[in-house]
Parts: sequence; C-alpha cells; structure tokens
Amino acid sequence: MDFTFAQDLKSRLDIVSVVGERVRLRKAGANNYQGLCPFHTEKTPSFSVSAKGFYYCFGCQAKGDVINFVREMEGLTFAEAVKELADRNGIPMPKQAQYADDESRLRAAVFQMHEIAADSFRANLRGPAGETARAYLARRGVKPETIEQFGLGYSDRTGRALQRVLEQRGFTPAQLDKSGLVRKRDDGTFYDFFRGRLMFPIHNHMGKVIAFGGRALSDEDNPKYLNSGDTPIYEKKKVLFNLHRAKEAMRKEDRVILVEGYMDAIGVTAAGFHAVVALCGTAFTTDQVRSLRGHTQKIVVNLDPDPAGARAAEKHIQMLLEEGMEVRIVELDGGLDPDEYCKDRGAAAYQDRLQNAKGYFHWLADRARSQFDMRTTEGQVAVLKHLVPAVQRIPDRLERMQIAIEVAGYVGVDQANQGMVLDAFKKSVADRNEKPMQAPAEMVRADEKGLLNVLLSDVPGREELVRAIQSLEILQRVAMRRIFQAAIAVHASGLPITFDTVDSRLEPADQSMMAVAVLSGDSEGNEFTLEFGARCLESLQRSDGTYQKQELKKRVKEAERTGDLTEALRLAQELQTLERRRDRAG
Ligand SMILES: [Zn+2]
Repeated sequence: MDFTFAQDLKSRLDIVSVVGERVRLRKAGANNYQGLCPFHTEKTPSFSVSAKGFYYCFGCQAKGDVINFVREMEGLTFAEAVKELADRNGIPMPKQAQYADDESRLRAAVFQMHEIAADSFRANLRGPAGETARAYLARRGVKPETIEQFGLGYSDRTGRALQRVLEQRGFTPAQLDKSGLVRKRDDGTFYDFFRGRLMFPIHNHMGKVIAFGGRALSDEDNPKYLNSGDTPIYEKKKVLFNLHRAKEAMRKEDRVILVEGYMDAIGVTAAGFHAVVALCGTAFTTDQVRSLRGHTQKIVVNLDPDPAGARAAEKHIQMLLEEGMEVRIVELDGGLDPDEYCKDRGAAAYQDRLQNAKGYFHWLADRARSQFDMRTTEGQVAVLKHLVPAVQRIPDRLERMQIAIEVAGYVGVDQANQGMVLDAFKKSVADRNEKPMQAPAEMVRADEKGLLNVLLSDVPGREELVRAIQSLEILQRVAMRRIFQAAIAVHASGLPITFDTVDSRLEPADQSMMAVAVLSGDSEGNEFTLEFGARCLESLQRSDGTYQKQELKKRVKEAERTGDLTEALRLAQELQTLERRRDRAG
C-alpha cells in the first residue's frame, strides 16, 4: 500500500464525519467533539474527536487517526481501511496501490466468495430447487419485495452447487478452506457447508455480505438454524443482523428494537419498523452493544416469550445497562414472537406494545413480585433482595440511588416496613466497589500547553517561537519536553509542524499527552494566536534558569555601567543563589 496516498487521503477526509457515522458525537469545543467510547464500557462520554484529524479516549487511552479508527471498528487491515475510505468518499486510488499483504488478499477473496454465494443462493430460491423454500416463506407471509430487500436465498441440497461455482471462478483450495462456505473432505475435495436451507445473508456495517444464517426446511435437518463460523471476514461476536439497514432509522427515531431471530427482524421491518436488529444465534456481547450505542442509547428488548427467552433477556440486559443503554422491555401476549405478532395483530398493535414497553427495573420487579408473597414482610424483602444485583450494576451512584428508591416504591413496600427494608436495600445498593482513581500523570503547565497549541496551529510567524524555545533550558524539564523536542526536530527537517508530523515521532504515552493537550486546549476556548504564544513563552522564560541568568547578568552589567554598585552587588548575589539552586536541582 502506498503510504503517500494514505497521507493524502487523510488530509482530504473529515474524521469527524467518518467517526460520526459510528459514534454519536456532540460538539465540545471549536474543533472538538465528544461521544461514548466505542472501545470501552462507559456511561459518560470520554471519547473525543478533533477536527485536526485524530481521536482520543480519556477513559481507555484509545487513540489514532481516521485510518486507525476504521481499522479498529471494522476489523480491517491498513490496506483495506485505506481502500474502504477512498471508495466511500469517491477518491480514486492510484493503480499501484493494490493489496500487497497476504491477509488483505485472502480477505478480499473471501468477501468475493460471499458475494458470489449470495447471488447463487438468490438464484436458487427463484429456480426450481427453491420451491420448498418459497412455500415456507409464503406460509410465513413474507412478501416477494421483502425477499428481495433482505436478499434471501436457498442453498442447494446436493452440496455441490456452490463449491462448483467457486472452483470455476478460480479460487484456490486454500482460499476455499478459509471461506467458511465449504467443508473439506478427508480426500481434500470440498462440499457445501449449507445444504437445503433457507439462506439469510448477514452484512457488515458497510453492507457487504460477510456470513450466512441457514434455516432448515425439513424436520430431519439439524440444527434448525445453522450459522457461519468465524472466518477472516466474520467475527460472530461483533455483528448484529440487519444493523446496516437499521442504523439510519435508529438515529432518526433514537431507539432500536432488539429481536432474537432473522425472521423476527424481517417481519418487524416489513411491518414498518426499520430500527430493528437481531442476534445471529449468539449470546449478546459488549461489542454488539457498542455497535448499537454509536447510533442510539435507547433499546427496546423484544426477545422470545418463553422462560429461556426471559432468562436470556435478564442476562443481556445486565450488560446493556453497564454499557449505558436505556433499556425497556416489550412483552407480547398470546405467546407470540415479534414476527407472528406483527402479522397476527397488525402494525398498530405492535406500535402500541412498543410505546407501552416497561422500563427494565419495573419489568424485573414484576417478575420478582410474581415469585414471592407480597403480603408478607419477608416477601417484600425477598423481592428487593432479588433486585439488588441488577441495581448495583448501574455505574453512576446518584442514578443508582434514584432507581433504588423508585423501584422500592414500585414494588410497594408497606409504610410500616419502609424504614427498615428500604434502609437495608439502599445500603446494599450503595455498597458497590467503585473503581480506584487513576494515578495522576505528570503535571502539564498551562503555559507549555498553550505554547504547544500555538505551535500546532497554522499561525503565521510561529517559526519565531520555535527559534526562541530551542535555547530554553526549562523545556528539558517540563512534562511535554519530548513533544517540544519532536516539534523542533520536525521543524529542523523542513516539514510543517502539524499534529500528524509531531505525533509520528512520539511514544504512545506522549502521543496521549499531546492529544489531551490539544483537546483540552480547544475546549478551554483560548485563541491560539501568535500573541498568545508569546505570552506563554514569556511565562516559561520567567521560570527558565538559563534565561533568568542571562537577564541577571545583563542587569548586573547595566548597574555597573551606571555606577550603582549596591544594586550590582545585590544582583550578583541573586545570580549566585540561582546557580547554587540549579546545581542542587541538577
Ligand atoms: Zn475508551
């Protein structure tokens, strides 16, 4: 991959809008935006993006430029991230910038195979082999336009159809073996992984097919749902079904509906609710929650109504709460799943269920109430005890206490018992191990931070400042010394001093320090003019030993010249004290 092209690409992209597609951002300064970090668990935003071309998380210290961000979020190689960004922004790539590394080449082949497979499955569904699958879809009330929209297909029963197509297209045995679409026999030949199943393509964030779910169409075929395993392009735990289609509606409506199966997501969408995603036959993971959180923090959970579903819901929800999601639960009557409910009762009825969805803690309290005898004090205490672990998971103490009081009220603890029961409840909820504070980093002075920000801004005349700081002894002692040294080195090499050029010369700890300095400088609202830089420089000079000594020497000479010997002596003594102090410090 051509690194010069990558540089050029970076300068032409707006990192704020690229990140903004995956993280909800709020303006927090002139060049600075904030949101919930996609890389760690948090409820209050500590993830910042600077229009100057970088992101930084104050919570987990994740940092990088726009290419790093896309790599991390989409699990891409450097070459793929560059290509992805160039393609999406209509920036032509130079010819020689082809994938050079094996990993990118393999992944490109596997992507291509999935595209071919999706086409082939779709064609099967339309053809004579797809009759059973078509009948099944008709029985489930799936309309032709919905089949088209979701790209549904059918995998041939023979187990040879796809394998043949892929071999004809020239994919190597090594590529086939990694694709997850075929399996290897002992003799080294391949056969199709999915056979005789209704096929649901699973897409990544960008809308490319990366995996499949296949539903059995006869009772002999086990399991009922067969899903792709992990491949070079698919990590099960990071992907939710339908997210790429739902994300726009999620942002617009500021909510997402979580359902269990592919058919649920399809049925709910067909009923007019586009902000819906499904688990791909996996347990819910933090990665998946974070991919949702980038679009909305409000989730309506509508999993299957059986007891296993409810238990699963409880587990999923604990994690949703920890990731800062606002959770509500939909319960559908008649034991119907979301797809059946929409078809049976209609979209208006489902809309009504969504609107009346209970807040998570009320739902949990209801479940607990049905298990204990609420007429007795013991029963009431048992219900509250049951709720303690869930409430304890709310990271924010104040919010935790508010919910504790609210929930206790909802459960309906007797007036007479309230004092005792509530106190015990509140106490156990409050006792949560808070994370220890991080050790403070080396103190950054306001003047060094200001000066750095001026140096990194495109201010005419800042070269003067660079010249002035080269002789400042104090800049070898301040927290950001290595950053200044890098800036001076960049300048000396004839390059412009920018965030990127300086950043590329730093170790990670200093990179973080610089990112923090730029972000916090930006939100403090100072204007980084040459005058401001000069004031910072002056302030640094006042604490600079070498500079002070030179100044004192000048004044001693001046006093001697004018014949004020008392003053000359006093200044000479001051100079001596300064030197002694410096010897001790050095
Ligand atoms: Zn973070």
